[in-house]
Amino acid sequence: MELKGKIALVTGSSRGIGKAIAGELASEGCTLIVHGSRETDALCSSFEEVKKVSPESIMTTAELSKPVDIDKMFSQIKETFGGLDILVNNAAIQNPSPVLELKQEDWDRVLSVNLKAPFLCAQHAGRLMCAKKAGGKIINISSVHAYDARRNYAHYSSAKGALETLTKSLALELAEFNIQVNSIVAGAIATELTPTDRQDKFLISIPAGRIGTTEEIAHLVTFLSSNKCDYLTGASITVDGGLTLGFCASRPDL
Ligand code: NAP
Repeated sequence: MELKGKIALVTGSSRGIGKAIAGELASEGCTLIVHGSRETDALCSSFEEVKKVSPESIMTTAELSKPVDIDKMFSQIKETFGGLDILVNNAAIQNPSPVLELKQEDWDRVLSVNLKAPFLCAQHAGRLMCAKKAGGKIINISSVHAYDARRNYAHYSSAKGALETLTKSLALELAEFNIQVNSIVAGAIATELTPTDRQDKFLISIPAGRIGTTEEIAHLVTFLSSNKCDYLTGASITVDGGLTLGFCASRPDL
């Protein structure tokens, strides 16, 4: 994919989808900034795996609900690498709650981590990319719940819906700098966000008959990070095994 030497930040790459993305980009020749909210065993182990194939990679921590942490993370990136080529806005939280009981602080936290942080990271990354004058790629990890409602997910769905619109706004304003911005609309993927006990419940609605893997998202991120799709921007690509194909998708009898 001709990614050798590219500098890539994957937010939330301590585990789950982000870990798979960081691992694949590293094996494609990128130098990674492996990120988590704080220093955990999971973050260190993800970083160690990345370092085996990409020794120049670094590990960083930033609590994404704190803009000051995001500022510090990007200062570290600028000091260490002088710029950034690829940003994957992957980190997110769910914190489900019935809408009538949803606390303001939970609404604020989900919107802050899942929407404001991707905006702030894209703004920092866009500035670094513009300064380097070598273009860039921003990939937002969205969800089918950006479009389809789900009980107890009003805040999560609202944030992901707005992330889709943000993707298009960024794509529009950054196109002249040769920066492409796209989103991946993920269906049910096997991670801690979709625990095993909940996975079976999804199966009846997925025409492919299975939950997706983290690698299946990582493959698309790798493609979107490459120069093979320089004319693709502002797109939302759904990877959901057919989950959102329509009414008949959830009715195997039809
Ligand atoms: P996950 O396994 O729960 O991992 C979440 C990652 O985000 C972790 O690395 C975590 O870091 C980081 N993170 C969470 N809150 C943070 C905060 N406040 N500050 C900094 N980092 C934070 O999640 P996942 O299932 O891989 O999901 C990844 C992305 O895919 C998300 O955007 C999610 O909405 C999207 N998605 C997932 C599914 C699915 O079925 N899994 C479906 C659709 C969309 P720590 O380890 O430090 O907590």
